Amino acid sequence: MADEATATRSDDQEQLADRDGEEQEPKPQQEKTPTRAEVSNFEIVTHYFNVAADRLNLRDDVAEVLMSSYREVKVQIPVTLADGKIHCFSGFRVQHNGARGPYKGGVRFHPEVDLDEVRALAALMTWKTAIVEIPYGGAKGGVDCPADELDEDQLQRVARQFMSKTEKVLGPTRDIPAPDVGTNAQVMAWMMDEYGKLHGHTPACVTGKPIALEGSYGREAATGRGLVYAFKEAADQLDIDPSETKFVVQGYGNVGSWAARELADLGGTLIGASDAFGAIRSDKGLDAKALADHVKEGGKLIEFDGDGAEAIDPDDLLEIECDVFIPAALGGMIHASNADSLNAKVVVEGANSPTTPKADDILNDKGVFVIPDVMANAGGVVVSYFEWVQNLQHFRWDEDEVNDRLGKIMRKGYKAVHDRAEKDDVSLRVAAYEVGIERVVEASRTRGYIGEGYA
Ligand code: NAD
Repeated sequence: MADEATATRSDDQEQLADRDGEEQEPKPQQEKTPTRAEVSNFEIVTHYFNVAADRLNLRDDVAEVLMSSYREVKVQIPVTLADGKIHCFSGFRVQHNGARGPYKGGVRFHPEVDLDEVRALAALMTWKTAIVEIPYGGAKGGVDCPADELDEDQLQRVARQFMSKTEKVLGPTRDIPAPDVGTNAQVMAWMMDEYGKLHGHTPACVTGKPIALEGSYGREAATGRGLVYAFKEAADQLDIDPSETKFVVQGYGNVGSWAARELADLGGTLIGASDAFGAIRSDKGLDAKALADHVKEGGKLIEFDGDGAEAIDPDDLLEIECDVFIPAALGGMIHASNADSLNAKVVVEGANSPTTPKADDILNDKGVFVIPDVMANAGGVVVSYFEWVQNLQHFRWDEDEVNDRLGKIMRKGYKAVHDRAEKDDVSLRVAAYEVGIERVVEASRTRGYIGEGYA
């Protein structure tokens, strides 16, 4: 991944600078095309919110309430690492809007985590939970630690400190964390245990837990599976046969690898994949499950010994001709400088904010059909909701029941957004934000949290 220092000033940044009418310091040009845009996740989410808010004639004062966070917590997380020094990480929890229910959102462990990013991801959760109509508000958390480089003991200390220092604003009726980039079921287990020391055994305080600790069947695969459910709806509409689909996955982690396995189960062929360390392609097709097992066992993606697999420059991944491109890594990875080279018919956004506004315009102009993050990757929070419901009832559903219910919710969400897009002649992204914002305004108004709302 390109860091801030090596990225060039992108057209995305210029577009936002023009919009705000401000001159920004140009960054030095570098030889390498940036992998990620410099536009922040917050600028991306704010841009999409503003477009929908304008279309809805939302009053400016109401829009301001809805785009700012309800509560932002920052804590210090000092951990002694292998060099014998104390490294002082920052932990964040942002609760964006709780009009529709307790706050809900993942916790990310990644060196680039900062308040701005967590704010953006929290707002996205507010719209996402509203679009799929589950009774939650939006939140997000993060710690700016290099999860990849920490051993299990160090990771556990970060997780426990994060929970013990934020628990006052968390809990099953207040705010329920879940996994995101750099965190997993094991991290959730440590957080649940830490919460339990203070409050007694409370499995519903976090979701995405291991099955052995009241996690839900189907949660680990849920985001990737939900992406494929959303794609199937679009495929019907676009006359694409999923069993003949050639697809590429950017970011072969939880979301990307599960989407790949699900799409492969439908008969699709994975022809390219990447992670933070490299990319591979094979025109004959990569075995999605074998690749996931290889990565899970600690193998490097680029060392995968698949049929005809060859290592490629990660920046060339977008150029692979395919039916479906699934960004499932970090935000801002499809941007003004590389969107034109994307060679897919459909983009299903697994990652949050993978596409900058400028790139979104380019993709629309090219006729690429984009299923946006705010609806496509909602499967994770939907099954987190199921896990919470099961925990509150101390009852467990089998995996078929979880998947059936997930499918129903994803199809209903897709239909609501698709119908709105047709009616208003807008993209799925604009329609999704419109649907989400309207539902949150309605809940906020009915509670008496804001006034009427529309101009
Ligand atoms: P993860 O940590 O399991 O996987 C992330 C993957 O992205 C890893 O393979 C990592 O190596 C790769 N990656 C990082 N930087 C990259 C780069 N520059 N180029 C290519 N690959 C890169 O995380 P995850 O849980 O799969 O989350 C992935 C995305 O999906 C994030 O944007 C997250 O916010 C979003 N998301 C996750 C969930 C969930 O349930 N886990 C739900 C909704 C959205």
